[in-house]
Amino acid sequence: MSEAPIRIALVGMGKIARDQHLPAIAGNPQLVLAATMSPHSPGVDGVAAFKSMEALLAAGDTFDAVALCSPPQVRYGLAAAALAAGKHVFLEKPPGATLSEVAVLKEKAEAAGVTLFASWHSRYAAGVEPARAWLADKRIDRAHIIWREDVRVWHPGQAWIWEAGGLGVFDPGINALSIVTRILPRRIMLEAATLSFPANREAPIAADLKLRDTDGAPVTFDLDWRQTGPQSWDIAVETNAGTLTLSQGGAVLEVDGHIHRDEDREYAGLYQQFEALIRAGVSDADVTPLELVSDVFLTGRRHTVETFED
Ligand code: NAP
Repeated sequence: MSEAPIRIALVGMGKIARDQHLPAIAGNPQLVLAATMSPHSPGVDGVAAFKSMEALLAAGDTFDAVALCSPPQVRYGLAAAALAAGKHVFLEKPPGATLSEVAVLKEKAEAAGVTLFASWHSRYAAGVEPARAWLADKRIDRAHIIWREDVRVWHPGQAWIWEAGGLGVFDPGINALSIVTRILPRRIMLEAATLSFPANREAPIAADLKLRDTDGAPVTFDLDWRQTGPQSWDIAVETNAGTLTLSQGGAVLEVDGHIHRDEDREYAGLYQQFEALIRAGVSDADVTPLELVSDVFLTGRRHTVETFED
């Protein structure tokens, strides 16, 4: 017997909600968009639209789950209110502004008997699972990540990203960490970090990280938001059987002289996973990438660099 579609309320109608969440929900017959909530941005024609979480929750049993696409600094309050109302919760990345609030959300979801999903969209890029499978039985000698992009192109006018808790260059950088922590066979730990903060901003514009896996293999990470011209979202892993490269944010895998490229299904994959978790009555809230970013902010050396204006 087929089950009723899961009714989703989409919260925070900004760039990612419109670019990715709306088409992914529309493309999945197991889901239906039941409502939107955003303080200022418009909703979607023909779908109930609300301006606050209180107003959305007052709509009662008209939806089953919320997908939270707000900035991370306000995510905990929105998620806690939805969980208290018995709704399943999909968290955009990063799952929260702090590790402690995500731990509390896990407890609340468990107590309410609903699903909490900490989504990491880059883990659903086409090359990631084949890379993980290929690396599983290899000796890892070293890995290098380059994530260099132009913040003016990708995050124009997003004030929250430069405020405390917005993560700055780690907003995209955490995507690289979500991939590396998925494909490498062993856990990685931070050894040293250098952070560059514009003199007028609360979040970094660039960083250099040195990490190691539990067998001592070095992993370096070069992260910069001041890149103009060609952009780089590349990971190279040197092994006893040759070098594996993942480029274009995990979309293209090159290994053994073969190039593996598939259609972009990141958000389709995320929503399939959310639906499967809800149907199975379980949660998936891995915080490993956020732990590493938290370690960077705990221990990194800070340099002040020139001011940045949008
Ligand atoms: P954005 O364009 O600035 O949109 C954020 C939206 O959140 C705004 O439209 C704002 O709504 C809404 N919002 C702010 N406070 C809210 C509140 N209290 N309750 C409900 N909604 C609230 O940012 P974005 O690029 O979509 O990023 C949002 C999240 O998605 C971030 O965590 C980011 O890391 C993640 N993400 C972004 C991308 C990307 O390519 N942009 C990719 C993957 C993941 P109003 O306009 O109504 O004020």
